[in-house]
Amino acid sequence: MTQLEDDRARVERRIAAACRQAGRERDEVRLLAVSKTRSTAEIRALHALGQRLFGENYVQEFVAKHDALTDLDPPPEWHFIGALQTNKTRAVAERAAWVHGVDRLKIAERLSRQRPDAMAPLQVCLQVDLSGEPGKAGVPPQEAGALAAAVARLPNLALRGLMAIPAPAQDPAGQRRPLARLRELRDSLNAQGRDLDTLSMGMSDDLEAAILEGSTLVRIGTALFGPRRPKARQS
Ligand SMILES: *Cc1c(COP(=O)(O)O)cnc(C)c1O
Repeated sequence: MTQLEDDRARVERRIAAACRQAGRERDEVRLLAVSKTRSTAEIRALHALGQRLFGENYVQEFVAKHDALTDLDPPPEWHFIGALQTNKTRAVAERAAWVHGVDRLKIAERLSRQRPDAMAPLQVCLQVDLSGEPGKAGVPPQEAGALAAAVARLPNLALRGLMAIPAPAQDPAGQRRPLARLRELRDSLNAQGRDLDTLSMGMSDDLEAAILEGSTLVRIGTALFGPRRPKARQS
């Protein structure tokens, strides 16, 4: 077995065990392979093992990899999971299946306007800031309802759910608290008339806690590919 096969099997076992513990079906949780900083060869190798969902968080890197991998069959489902500036929305609108980091109406409006008509609507998750600290990415929870209502009206987007990147916590209870708050926020938005089926939460260190709290999509980098190399050393 290669290292990648080994790591993928280990992640798969963790997801399956967490689903069993949560009393959920395995197919309720999708695995997004976070391939930032990884080579196209690594992405091809993981795709050959059956992985279909890939996530990138820098626009230039996403565009380069997406465009270098258009021959893959079946095509990967590309998720953009990073912060988006207004001048970078078009490249993402023309390539991604999903965007997880939407936290402002202006970004959503541009993505909708720039989404090519020939493509399916762009699937969107709103990023929520659970830290309460100013300057962090994400919409504050108390503003999420208004943003969700506005985004839901945009023609070329499909609002699917919420995403968060909680601050790291050491103990399982500390990990679960913010994840539970994201689920409760999703439930309260649905009670207000939204139809959100996606909770994008859970990374290498907290995927079990996230699945116990209702995650439907875990975003996994390190546990699949090993530690990321420092940016400056990449070729
Ligand atoms: C890098 C990244 C991940 C993956 O983190 P790991 O701890 O390596 O699994 C998940 N989500 C986002 C938004 C990221 O930028």
